[in-house]
Amino acid sequence: MPGFELFGEEERKEVNDVMETGILMRYGFDGPRKGHWKAKELEEAINKTFGSRYAQLTSSGTAALTTAMAALGIGFGDEIIMPAFTFVASFEAVMSVGAVPVLVDIDETLTLDPAAVRAAITPKTKCVMPVHMCGSMANLDALQAICDEHNLILLEDACQSIGATYKGKSLGTIGAAGTFSFDFVKTITCAEGGVVMTNSEDVYTKCDGYTDHGHDHKGADRGADLHPFLGYNYRISELHAAVGLAQIRKLDTFLTLQKKNYRALRSYLEQVPEITFRKVPEGGEDSCSFISWFLPTEEITKDVVAELKEQGILAGNFYWFVNNWHYVRKWDHLKDAKALHNLSSKQRNALQKIKEAKFEASDAIMCRCISTAISLVWSEDQIKEKGEKLVAVIKNVLARQTQKA
Ligand SMILES: *Cc1c(COP(=O)(O)O)cnc(C)c1O
Repeated sequence: MPGFELFGEEERKEVNDVMETGILMRYGFDGPRKGHWKAKELEEAINKTFGSRYAQLTSSGTAALTTAMAALGIGFGDEIIMPAFTFVASFEAVMSVGAVPVLVDIDETLTLDPAAVRAAITPKTKCVMPVHMCGSMANLDALQAICDEHNLILLEDACQSIGATYKGKSLGTIGAAGTFSFDFVKTITCAEGGVVMTNSEDVYTKCDGYTDHGHDHKGADRGADLHPFLGYNYRISELHAAVGLAQIRKLDTFLTLQKKNYRALRSYLEQVPEITFRKVPEGGEDSCSFISWFLPTEEITKDVVAELKEQGILAGNFYWFVNNWHYVRKWDHLKDAKALHNLSSKQRNALQKIKEAKFEASDAIMCRCISTAISLVWSEDQIKEKGEKLVAVIKNVLARQTQKA
């Protein structure tokens, strides 16, 4: 998964360009920066690599989502339909623009179930936000059809799925806008950063201003810029962009290794007929940053995960073990509406609803799901060892279950 695993010389060189001029900001200082425009260059590289028409870098993936929502006109009281399995950042962005999160069930794609989306539409619905979790994707054709039918905005949170494609297009470039995160554990890292991609000039222009106090960036110098609307500071720095630039040039290498290691580990898991794999929609190509698979029952999965943990084999289950950031079941701070600022009554009601809601279909999937992050630097021997240990643990637990039955 993470670009930080292959890090060094190239990043140092790009950062040194910036260090030598001392111009750490992406705007202005045209003379002293001696031709170095790392953020601009990275935006161009993103468009070229992923096929988006416009790209706006931000200070984080969370900021990218917030910016995208603002630029798409999503705000106070608007309902956003999103999956119950996501990273809290997607949820936070919704809350921060005053919108109302409506969580719905996932299917075996590990993200939005189109039928659940359809059932959740109300007159207040403005946006459908699939979160392409763990390297793969939602059924985007089905979601786009629902959006077209109900005049809704499709916003892709592709923060975890850099390099995955759907019907030949990069994730994040298919909806009205899409986002990547470049935080430290993502496929491309620049320590902290993110991007909004869009094919709409209007959405891009709004992102450009929103991330920089509303500056229109059309003045002869910064002081001469106009401010057509309210903005904030979600800028990326030149230092961060420099790291990202070195990383994006290595993306093909990252993806090749990721896919190779994924296939190698999967071949072990495929030896166990009881295992099934996360569903990739037709026409989709997984980035392979994770391998996600299902066991037959909750009990078996729980035993397998416990045993793997005991043996020090990294294989996560978001239902019980991993953390309280990804699956709705563990989000007590959100359900209890613990915010520092005032939430609107609509947001409070939405959180109360989430607290009372039952996500039975999602529970049934998440409690049987194990996800393993794919490393770029595993050796063949390491994969063999990991694969053999995984299979041994699973077969043991399965045999014990059969004995019990
Ligand atoms: C990482 C991530 C984000 C944004 O995270 P930042 O750490 O703010 O860059 C958003 N959504 C998902 C699904 C993510 O995994």
